[in-house]
Amino acid sequence: MASLLDPAVALPAAAVIGLCVGSFLNVVIHRLPRMMERGWAVQCAELAGREPEPGPRYNLVVPRSACPACGHRITALENVPVVSWLALRGRCSACRAAISPRYPAVELLAGALALMAIWQFGPTWKGIAACGFLWTLIALAFIDADTQLLPDDLTLPLMWAGLAANLFGLFVPLASAVIGTIAGYLALWTLYWLFKLIRGKEGMGYGDFKLLAALGAWLGWPMLPQIVLLSSVLGAVGGIAMILLMGRDRAVPIPYGPWLAAAGAVALFVGPAINALYLP
Ligand SMILES: [Zn+2]
Repeated sequence: MASLLDPAVALPAAAVIGLCVGSFLNVVIHRLPRMMERGWAVQCAELAGREPEPGPRYNLVVPRSACPACGHRITALENVPVVSWLALRGRCSACRAAISPRYPAVELLAGALALMAIWQFGPTWKGIAACGFLWTLIALAFIDADTQLLPDDLTLPLMWAGLAANLFGLFVPLASAVIGTIAGYLALWTLYWLFKLIRGKEGMGYGDFKLLAALGAWLGWPMLPQIVLLSSVLGAVGGIAMILLMGRDRAVPIPYGPWLAAAGAVALFVGPAINALYLP
């Protein structure tokens, strides 16, 4: 595939752009669930025939980021990915309240995955598409971990983008992507209903079906078995570890989305090699 850039330029560029995108992903992870809640409140008010309560504008751009403890506006200098957090030693410059290490961690993750994608796929359209895929998975994983939601605003565009990328055969042939989308959705939908009929409980949500459909759209149907297997193992081990080590209440359901997202990222990089071991 044709390189768009010299790798000596592309790899550092990917890391820096990834860090900056990670900074934006922190905003998405924090605000998208709140934007959805506001949207639902407006819809409920309209259905009940009430005027929705007017509130200040709130989206991914407005208002500017501020310290949740004291309201101090984050300046551009305090918003440099990872560096600012280290320079401020993880504290707000105004009130010294602790800033979660999760912010630089998300930035580092976004930078590292972008670097790996460009390293493996080169500075090509495939590499750029892989970065978009991985960044969206980061946002979905953290939002699901926080809120047990996988927003349609992320899962559905991710699915369409996968089909669009494979219209050009970037990752797999289009037929494999279409079958992967349908099979991904139906596999978890079927499990969900079996589980519900047998146990009378809901083991996962519709967002999980859409996320696996999106992974099928990007990676093709032959990748689905290993994604389901790996995410189930990760989820079981992670869930038990959280109950044992962190004293998590076992009645609280463990979100499946983060493990699906992690398995999807693993499958992007090493899935074809794993499939080559057992598929003809
Ligand atoms: Zn503060």
